[in-house]
Amino acid sequence: MSTSFDQFRQTSVLSGGNAAFIEDLYESFLQDPNSVSETWRAYFLGLRATGGSATEQLHGPVRDTFAKIAQNPRAIISILPSLTQGETLNPEAARKQASVLRIINAHRTRGHQAADLDPLALRERPHVEDLDLATHGLSEEDLDTTFDVGSLQVGKHQMPLREVLDLVRRVYTETIGSEYMYINKTEEKRWIQQRLEGTSAHLDLSAVERKELLAQLVAAEGLEKYLHTKYVGQKRFSLEGGDALIPMLDLMIQHSGHVGAREIVIGMAHRGRLNVLINILGKSPADLFDEFEGKKKHSEPGMSSGDVKYHMGFSSDVMTPGGVTHLALAFNPSHLEIVNPVVEGSVRARLERRKQGGQDSPLPFEEVLPVLIHGDAAFAGQGVNQELFQMASVRGYRNGGTVHIVVNNQIGFTTSNPLDVRSSTYCTDVAKIIQAPVFHVNGDDPEAVLFVTKLAVDYRYTFGKDVVIDLVCYRRHGHNEADEPSATQPMMYKTIKARKTTATLYAQKLLGEGVLLEGEFERMLADYRAKLDAGQQVSRPTLLHQDNPYSVDWSPYKSEDWSAPCDTTVPLDHFQQLAERLNTLPAGHEPHPRVAKIIDDRRKMAAGALALDWGFAENMAYATLLDEGFQVRISGEDCGRGTFFHRHAVLHNVHDGSAYIPLANVSPDQPTFTVIDSILSEEAVLGFEYGYATAEPSVLVIWEAQFGDFANGAQVVIDQFISSGQTKWGRMCGLTLLLPHGFEGQGPEHSSARLERYMQLCAEHNMQVIVPSTPAQCYHMLRRQVKRNFRKPLIVMSPKSLLRHKLAVNTLEDLTQGSFQEIIPEIDPIDPAKVTRIVFCSGKVYYDVLEKRRELGIENVAIVRIEQLYPFPEELYAAELKRYAKAKEIVWCQEEPLNQGAWYASRHHLEVATASGERTLSYAGRPASASPAVGSHAVHVEQQNALVSQALGQ
Ligand code: AMP
Repeated sequence: MSTSFDQFRQTSVLSGGNAAFIEDLYESFLQDPNSVSETWRAYFLGLRATGGSATEQLHGPVRDTFAKIAQNPRAIISILPSLTQGETLNPEAARKQASVLRIINAHRTRGHQAADLDPLALRERPHVEDLDLATHGLSEEDLDTTFDVGSLQVGKHQMPLREVLDLVRRVYTETIGSEYMYINKTEEKRWIQQRLEGTSAHLDLSAVERKELLAQLVAAEGLEKYLHTKYVGQKRFSLEGGDALIPMLDLMIQHSGHVGAREIVIGMAHRGRLNVLINILGKSPADLFDEFEGKKKHSEPGMSSGDVKYHMGFSSDVMTPGGVTHLALAFNPSHLEIVNPVVEGSVRARLERRKQGGQDSPLPFEEVLPVLIHGDAAFAGQGVNQELFQMASVRGYRNGGTVHIVVNNQIGFTTSNPLDVRSSTYCTDVAKIIQAPVFHVNGDDPEAVLFVTKLAVDYRYTFGKDVVIDLVCYRRHGHNEADEPSATQPMMYKTIKARKTTATLYAQKLLGEGVLLEGEFERMLADYRAKLDAGQQVSRPTLLHQDNPYSVDWSPYKSEDWSAPCDTTVPLDHFQQLAERLNTLPAGHEPHPRVAKIIDDRRKMAAGALALDWGFAENMAYATLLDEGFQVRISGEDCGRGTFFHRHAVLHNVHDGSAYIPLANVSPDQPTFTVIDSILSEEAVLGFEYGYATAEPSVLVIWEAQFGDFANGAQVVIDQFISSGQTKWGRMCGLTLLLPHGFEGQGPEHSSARLERYMQLCAEHNMQVIVPSTPAQCYHMLRRQVKRNFRKPLIVMSPKSLLRHKLAVNTLEDLTQGSFQEIIPEIDPIDPAKVTRIVFCSGKVYYDVLEKRRELGIENVAIVRIEQLYPFPEELYAAELKRYAKAKEIVWCQEEPLNQGAWYASRHHLEVATASGERTLSYAGRPASASPAVGSHAVHVEQQNALVSQALGQ
């Protein structure tokens, strides 16, 4: 008895090794008892009868049961009769049955490794033992035996092994390699299996549709060939080799339009971009030719530099089966992958614009679709993608799923081999951190490409999550058209040269199948070329003048009148009403005592009983803007509370941890107030906020760095978008950056927000750099940012110690009246006639100099704050010089080292003072230094005292 029992245990389907398959079956049974065979149904019903609840939905208990069975052979005796319904169990049949389930699963999990994905077939396809019959104890002799197929989505319970194998090999190891078995949610896995394995798993393209597909490939190839011959040697970053991208995008647009996308925002780098612009977005070929011929002049306001043609964005409207869909291709710098978060931010802004109802109503994710086109090496190599994926489902940034396409030409940036460009198996592996399914597809099987395209769009629309298509293709030419790829990739390029184009191969296939007539392909090529010759549009027709209630009119922001007055005042009584709403918490909501004290103080401030501090003024800037109908969005690390405990825009109840956001409760029909403690990312989050702000001018969009130097990790966004986006692409942007800055003895990090870098980037009135020194300045500055009639990035060196400095306070009138002052003149009653020296400075050091001057009773030195460093307030500066006509010594004082801070970038403005030769200009600050600040607090104090004394001439 015991021998046969042991034998049974080793071979039985019940043994531990098969538990996963049985679990799998059980899940199918739970979803639909008829989806499993009679025997298995009885088996599971029997299990329920032996202890499981009739309503049980979890498979954990079943797994436990099997584990127990495996450990305790006697249990099998008790369960066997009900499982087999009295039939005699044939252990060999049971073992083989389990093996069949295993080989099905092996194809699902590892089939992609053996799939025929590379059009160049450069490497031998690996032999994956897991996919062999023998590995699972099966042989050719079993091929005609009928087995239970478990959860195989074929609409029947049993099939001969031969048919099972044919199916799983066709589905999982031909020109599509699917990776999805790591997804935790069974529902999603089943859905994908249904699409891949099910009988409806074919596109069943009609002859007409197949010819349309060929026409798209002809277009992709035709454009590149045309440009190649017409503009010899000019860079265009040809798509050739990845031609299937064009029919893929066309179907993606048409199909997502059909299922609800009213806007699609696309991000992509330079490769293939001209092709997408012409063949998908509907840019006029004539315009492109003008760009090649250097005839194109840029006309957008502020667009002084322009950009190369393969970085340009484009917008159009196309008709889809679901209605008109707006397409926007984002402008893009050379820095790969950085456009991705920008696109996501733009999508988020568009979604919020389309939201129906109040602040808490859901975003209509189906209406706007982000599509990101990546390069293989960059997708794997650029860290911004990890940040991006981590943002995919968090509340401040999610967009209901992105469709990612990797144009995988199997060659790193310029010359690198796949072996050198990454450590992960696939270039797409980064997407697995959010369990996004990945569909690798051979770019030379255009029908398979269309199949995964539809699948990917449907997955996104069904589950609201990211999905990846890896278009495995090649690059027919070098990195650009002047590059010689054979020098570094001789073998690869020998194969490429010998390979027919995707269109030619597909045309041959259609010819062979009688879908295409002799000569038809050649005619299609000639027709496309003729259209280009005539400069005609070659994409699907684009629609003119779409009256879209969700499009933004940017014309009111085009004035760029920097001197136009901007009223940022609010009547006192209304201001106080708003403050009261802000500082009244719902019954039962008790914040931490330290926070309660802050709120209590704010009540006193609103009543005029206490001097106003930074946190109060800043919150009131938001409250008044919201009250006036401006949406406010703040994101950054810790920005709900504020790094330095000053903001408290989110109040946490000590009793249950629930959050209350006073600014979301200013008035019942107020616009949305969003404050987000971002994921721990600077680069992607800042890119996202830039994207948001460039898509939405009516929202005050703020990114706050935890410390100003954290923006270092987002330098690409600052250099290539924020500071230069308008001069390159004519795209306005009102994004505000709050960058904590100030030398307080905290060491080399976290002292400096690297003011000098922003100053260096300033030109042509591209942005504003402000160092506000009072709460009122902060208040008026923030209000002015959205109330002005133009949009320019605002870089704020925001304070740390000034948040609580006894002198950095204001009265109610300073807020309710007044305005932002670009220069704050002397505040003490100093007689101008006695002034021989003027100290100009910005930020926290002002208070150090002021206190010292008061302490020493100095009367001949005036201290003037330059609050707006860029654009430099020339006239106000000149007025200050005039006010102190006798002052011969002009000093610029800063706490940053000589090579940092504002000195070098502002000096030429300050030097206006010395033009007559009667005045001198000198520098008072730290000596030049490689690091921003010293580590020793004592040395810091020494340096600070020295520069203050130097400023005062002591
Ligand atoms: P989009 O929805 O991005 O396709 O933009 C539609 C149109 O709005 C563009 O063609 C531009 O004319 C204009 N536009 C969009 N964003 C901006 C911006 N940030 N600055 C200026 N104009 C813009």
